[in-house]
Amino acid sequence: MLIAAYKDGAWGDAEILPYGPLHFDPSMTTLHYGQSIFEGIKAFRMKDGSAAIFRPYENLKRFNKSAHRMAMPDVPEFHFIEGMKQLLALEDKWIPNAEEHSMYIRPFMFGTDEVIGVAPSSTYYFMIILSPVGPYFSKPLKIYVEEQFVRAAPGGVGYAKTAGNYAASLYPAKLAREKGFDQILWMDAKEHKYVEECGAMNVFFVLDGKLITPSLNAGTILDDITRKSVIDLAKSLGKTVEERDILIDELVEGHKKGTFTEAFGAGTAVTVSKIEVLQYKDVRISLDVSKMSMADELKQKMAAIKDGSAVDAFGWMVKTNA
Ligand code: PLP
Repeated sequence: MLIAAYKDGAWGDAEILPYGPLHFDPSMTTLHYGQSIFEGIKAFRMKDGSAAIFRPYENLKRFNKSAHRMAMPDVPEFHFIEGMKQLLALEDKWIPNAEEHSMYIRPFMFGTDEVIGVAPSSTYYFMIILSPVGPYFSKPLKIYVEEQFVRAAPGGVGYAKTAGNYAASLYPAKLAREKGFDQILWMDAKEHKYVEECGAMNVFFVLDGKLITPSLNAGTILDDITRKSVIDLAKSLGKTVEERDILIDELVEGHKKGTFTEAFGAGTAVTVSKIEVLQYKDVRISLDVSKMSMADELKQKMAAIKDGSAVDAFGWMVKTNA
């Protein structure tokens, strides 16, 4: 694991140490006030045997955006990018060489002040840990459209990848699972009419032949890196893509008319995962996953860039130091 400490207004050197437990004072600020952020990134085994990380500079940008919102210091590019490259070089033999497998990279930062009192911490740890991973979901998803609980409101921290957003999602997600659903589709906090995002992924729909996804304007949705990549890829393939507010009623209507043909989630963990059911109130929208050609094409093209079997025309892949 990589670890660097921040104190007296500056970051110390990063060190790579054997993975193991940390010891903290019970008053450590993060445990009480949640000043904690993280990222999720993947490194892939390429066809030529080398390894490469998918768009880590975008994660660095988002990490520091989250840090800013949570009154935490920026993490230097060297610690974040060079740190993960060095760590991956050391653990190179653990980067899997199998379809839909990769090395998950988890950078995170948390406040370490020993004080009971609500204030930004003056000391922090930045760390990176790794784990080899396989596919997140093994089958198409059944999604519950959530109307009671909300994930994020305008002015809040929805766009930040901060621990509290995930803590707040656990109870509603548990209820949805008990009803037989895999994930929640969050709606806007005010009217519960507009679709936002889903668990650990962003959502895409094919409506009237166009690929549509919720816009990020309200600041309530995580600015996803897979989302950006899917949009760029789809545009390069000549698809019409719209980032806009999406009413749940449009999807219900589209389903009735037969013009709502595909739904899928996109994220680092899930890559592209098809949605077969959307449950909204007592309306069950069932989609035929075998006919989701746009999702199939995008998933296959993304995978080919990640393992080096297609040209990386966008310059997304960053080689490790191995
Ligand atoms: N939305 C949320 C809430 C997430 O936690 C994630 C996580 O990875 C995503 C979307 C997908 O974002 P990305 O594509 O950057 O992984």
